[in-house]
Amino acid sequence: MSRAQSSRASRPEPDQGGVRKPGTAPEGAQAQGAQAKGAQTDRAAGRVLSVASECAPLVKTGGLADVVGALPGALGPLGWQLRTLIPAYRGLIARLDAPAELWSDPDLYGGPARVLAGRAAGLDLLLLDAPHLFDRAGSPYLDETGADWPDNPRRFAALSWVAAAIARDGLSDGWRPDLIHAHDWQAGFAPLWAGQTPSVMTIHNIAFQGIAPARAVDELRLPPSGFTPQGYEYWGQISALKAGLVYASAISTVSPSYAAELTTPEFGFGLEGVIRDRAATMSGILNGVDAQVWNPATDPLIPANYAAGDMAGKSTSAAALRDEFGLDPQGGQSAGGPLFIVVSRLTRQKGLDLLLDALPGLVARGGQLAVLGSGEPDLQDGFLRAAARWPGRVGTRIGYDEALSHRMFAGGDVVLVPSRFEPSGLTQMYGLAYGTLPLVARTGGLADSVIDANVAALRDGVATGWQFAPVTGDALNLALQKVSALYAQPVIWQRMVARAMAHPVGWDASARDYAALYDRLTGH
Ligand code: ADP
Repeated sequence: MSRAQSSRASRPEPDQGGVRKPGTAPEGAQAQGAQAKGAQTDRAAGRVLSVASECAPLVKTGGLADVVGALPGALGPLGWQLRTLIPAYRGLIARLDAPAELWSDPDLYGGPARVLAGRAAGLDLLLLDAPHLFDRAGSPYLDETGADWPDNPRRFAALSWVAAAIARDGLSDGWRPDLIHAHDWQAGFAPLWAGQTPSVMTIHNIAFQGIAPARAVDELRLPPSGFTPQGYEYWGQISALKAGLVYASAISTVSPSYAAELTTPEFGFGLEGVIRDRAATMSGILNGVDAQVWNPATDPLIPANYAAGDMAGKSTSAAALRDEFGLDPQGGQSAGGPLFIVVSRLTRQKGLDLLLDALPGLVARGGQLAVLGSGEPDLQDGFLRAAARWPGRVGTRIGYDEALSHRMFAGGDVVLVPSRFEPSGLTQMYGLAYGTLPLVARTGGLADSVIDANVAALRDGVATGWQFAPVTGDALNLALQKVSALYAQPVIWQRMVARAMAHPVGWDASARDYAALYDRLTGH
């Protein structure tokens, strides 16, 4: 295989032959914008190689994993077969059913590598087994001390390289994708190297851009001619995300509001110009949640199941949650204050410093707070100190605990998401599904998924939560006061809970949007 494609313009060229295996996809369907629709097309499922650094439930640090894990199930019924390529982090190969080696390279960025195919957790997975890059203790991105792995640019360039190789040459079982779906910077170089295979680059969070120093061009196997402002150069450095944004056939992000925000300096993190240049190809498609996993009527992880019209299980879950967090049992409507929850990475992005400032008022109005999260030390300390200052009113768990997060959504009254920016956000959607009303900052996907309880929405019975703007402590405080006022009116509150639980948060609509995007790019 060649070391790199030239730094071609963003539109793929029609296939000039020579790289496809015989017997694979009809060639005409491959070119972006091909006129193949309605012509002689293969009616079999379209094939997508989804490339990412995380995939739930196998490896997850955030919402990216949930989305990557949910897309195959959501797109399958719409005629798209997704295979998901992720790194074989330590321990993952053992999770594959009957792994089969379908690709290999004796020297992938400094060591031998192979792709193992198999099923795990109901997913059709391709694991990139490259021990010199991925067989390590620690998280996908950080070593055991919490520092970035110094070779992250190389590790994920390798992932992207292999994705492009699969797109160009196919796997040894004859499978070859019609399209590459690259997620976030870790897959950013795949569109650059993908040759004529169409690609979608999805931005889950533009704050993470995969920056490497200019001297790494050769090491990363990048075409030097692409190191320009029109290519993958970002202010004298290399940006993997920018490569994806420039070279993909189309770009997308995870909510319509974030798509609009990304064109502004406030939210674009220096890439707003690139996004504006590619606006004609941009889609904003809101994430969904997996209704099999996040459904209070069937969730095996919560103390008692419940559904709209049969809410006793929510009260049981609330009592259990208070007990688990050491909160006073006599909280709730009788005490005048709701039980707020936070399930989040504890970072500045999530606006939780504003919540710390607003805590005295929340507690003074009779509220309680249960926090689960980990991240920046000052925020962790802040919530631990709050729990010590207000025992029985505030409880804090530092860590990552999927099962506990389910119990929190079941037992809470209100989920707080005061993010400064939030591409899509999932926890507000879990809140809707579990009747734990979301109080959110009016930004990104939060603005797109929660209907603010303003006078008009309350009158029409359509409110599902609260939005506040601007994202400041004062505005959050005001919103918290509104929550307390409404909590004192149980009939209205229960009506809102029912409305929230009826709000669709599944994948149906968004999966159709992705399918339409895939159709458009492949002529499938
Ligand atoms: P982001 O991807 O920016 O972290 P999202 O809201 O899109 O934010 O997704 C976060 C996901 O991670 C959700 O599924 C949320 O429940 C989960 N999560 C975050 N922190 C924790 C934690 N400490 N324990 C369990 N789950 C968590």
